[in-house]
Amino acid sequence: MRYRSILLFGAPGAGKGTQGKILGSIPGLFHCACGDVFRNLTAESSTGRTFIEYSSRGELVPDEPTVDLWQEFISRSTQAGRFHPDTDTLVLDGIPRNVHQAEMLKETLDVRAIFYLSCPTLKKLVHRIQRRALRENRLDDANLEVIQHRLKTYERETKPLLSFYGKEILHRIDGTQSPAKVLHDILRHVTKV
Ligand code: ADP
Repeated sequence: MRYRSILLFGAPGAGKGTQGKILGSIPGLFHCACGDVFRNLTAESSTGRTFIEYSSRGELVPDEPTVDLWQEFISRSTQAGRFHPDTDTLVLDGIPRNVHQAEMLKETLDVRAIFYLSCPTLKKLVHRIQRRALRENRLDDANLEVIQHRLKTYERETKPLLSFYGKEILHRIDGTQSPAKVLHDILRHVTKV
């Protein structure tokens, strides 16, 4: 079976995590932030070490360990009764993150909608990321060079996903609005997927 899914899409700092957490608290929606799954690993595991190596440079973790880890997380969540694939919709944040990952997950995901939180002002993104660095103690958020590299990685590797999935399911949302307004815009469509 393919998991019914909606994707939160946008640059680092666009607000995917904030919206994902709120959406995930709604019954019937299950939020999965790939970055959080990585951050919950320890440096003792080999994927944990790979994550630290790549994320500290502002690069994406290679696709195979990423997709494997994600699959494991979904299986564990299903077994633990947190995620009910028959009735829940997955709210994916940070995965798939490039066209190759989307190809790898083609038989696994039934993507019904993409919410593209657009934030054209680079300065605003950088400011939000730096503010988050202090709150969440994230290594990759603290260094300006790493942040800039992540934004470039997003433009080069992640943005092409928009044309992979096509316009029919794409909803562009102004990510510079307040979190409540962004949520309102997303929810108008979520009820229809
Ligand atoms: P942000 O969107 O702010 O960059 P995330 O928490 O989504 O933050 O990701 C942090 C880091 O985790 C990324 O820079 C990347 O190194 C790694 N990562 C997360 N998801 C993926 C993914 N699907 N594929 C490869 N790397 C990923």
